[in-house]
Amino acid sequence: MAVIGKKAVKKVSTPKIKRTKLLINNKWVDPVEGGSFKTYNPATGEVIAKVAEASAKDVDLAVKAARKALESGPWARMDAADRGKLMFKLADLIEKNAEELAVLESYNCGKTITDARGDLVGTINTLRYYAGWADKIEGRTVPVRGKFLSYTLRQPVGVIGQIIPWNFPLLMLAWKWGPALACGNTIVLKPAEQTPLTALRVAELAIEAGFPAGVINIVNGFGETAGNALVIHPGVDKIAFTGHVDTAKIIQKKAADTLKRTTFELGGKSPNVVFADCDIDQAVEGAFHAIYFHCGQCCTAGSRLFVEQKIQKEFVERLAAKAKQRKVGDPMDESTQQGPQVSQEQLDKILHYVALGQREGAKLVTGGQRKGAKGYFIEPTIFDGVRDEMAIARDEIFGPVVSVLPFKDMDEVVARANDTFYGLAAGVWTKNLDKAHNYAAAVKAGTVWVNCYHIVDTTTPFGGFKMSGQGRENGEEALDHYTETKTVTVNLA
Ligand code: ADP
Repeated sequence: MAVIGKKAVKKVSTPKIKRTKLLINNKWVDPVEGGSFKTYNPATGEVIAKVAEASAKDVDLAVKAARKALESGPWARMDAADRGKLMFKLADLIEKNAEELAVLESYNCGKTITDARGDLVGTINTLRYYAGWADKIEGRTVPVRGKFLSYTLRQPVGVIGQIIPWNFPLLMLAWKWGPALACGNTIVLKPAEQTPLTALRVAELAIEAGFPAGVINIVNGFGETAGNALVIHPGVDKIAFTGHVDTAKIIQKKAADTLKRTTFELGGKSPNVVFADCDIDQAVEGAFHAIYFHCGQCCTAGSRLFVEQKIQKEFVERLAAKAKQRKVGDPMDESTQQGPQVSQEQLDKILHYVALGQREGAKLVTGGQRKGAKGYFIEPTIFDGVRDEMAIARDEIFGPVVSVLPFKDMDEVVARANDTFYGLAAGVWTKNLDKAHNYAAAVKAGTVWVNCYHIVDTTTPFGGFKMSGQGRENGEEALDHYTETKTVTVNLA
């Protein structure tokens, strides 16, 4: 036991790995070609387990199972309200097993146990929110010309290939499953190769909840093989993808052959703007959280920190003081504030950008070093005096590295904030209402936070402007991307 403030905290014990096979048609199966891959604990770099690796042949079997479940069998005939009931049941089972899942998530992904518990809350909320929608997805009656009755039906898009990343494995699963299931679709999910474990455990709970065979299938594996097989499969009606913008470009090109529907939630280089008239204590806390939450491994990370020149010196000093105090270490220790990056590859990429930032002439205020020789830890890093054209101000680093960019006034900062092909999220810190709303209207981003950051709720639409995405997840909007609208016209003459 350690003590933070007055709260006693403890180290969580290592989880048991229960499932590693593929899930196809509610059966745990070995891959046709017998492949497997290793999955690691990012805190130590050690192998946790070997996981079944899907090839195109397994993806084909999973897609066929999903299509059968879509077109015949209990799911196809089920009342919408009963679909909702199954989803509520799954949410209840996840809640019952939340601690086990949080520990497994932390172990496989490296996020702190505290953050993993937070993700579980989000996962459960999302499934319940969409469970409630299941029997509320309605069409319209339309006043057409002539003696006709026209009405619309909203029907499932079909078999959905869902490809998700490693930073929020369970939450991304819920964002994809929630609207897809509420609308009556069936699913083939490919989790990220770095984090294959929690999806398998949740799928086991889905079987326990009573989801019929073929509704949910899990094909762990790599992007270029299993992921690609989903993208090009003619039996998949839609791809829902969260990941890198370059991967989305590949997917969109390949999906063109079958004209699949696609939705994308991609990266960002989010501008977080601090005006001198902010509550400075709140803004320092907020800007810190904006970049360092989950080691900067968030597509919404506030990685371009625009600070009004008048307060730049004080602001950077206060941020640096906090960064130096941050407890970086074992993610399963409840007192830890920052765990490891997810992989050696990510660690190397971040260190590359730190070196590049220095070469380009930015001032490294604090951090920039790997921490320890084991696991993928890195110090919280701050660059000051960054210019817009530097790579550290333009590229998504996906690590705990913030670029501080000074500015003078609103027009200037809006133009600079928008000078990027990304448009996922943005933040602003000011006590002036006019400024806050003017910035919110002018910045090109799918989400804007005023005097807060990383507030993402399942009830509000989330997605990107420009190359940060297509379509929206969460909220009612997500349902539009999981239904096809059918017009039925009846001759009444
Ligand atoms: P990151 O760089 O953060 O790992 P990726 O876009 O590479 O982001 O990965 C996100 C998800 O996309 C993962 O599940 C990965 O396996 C998958 N993926 C990667 N490449 C492809 C591809 N060519 N086709 C389909 N899925 C892919």
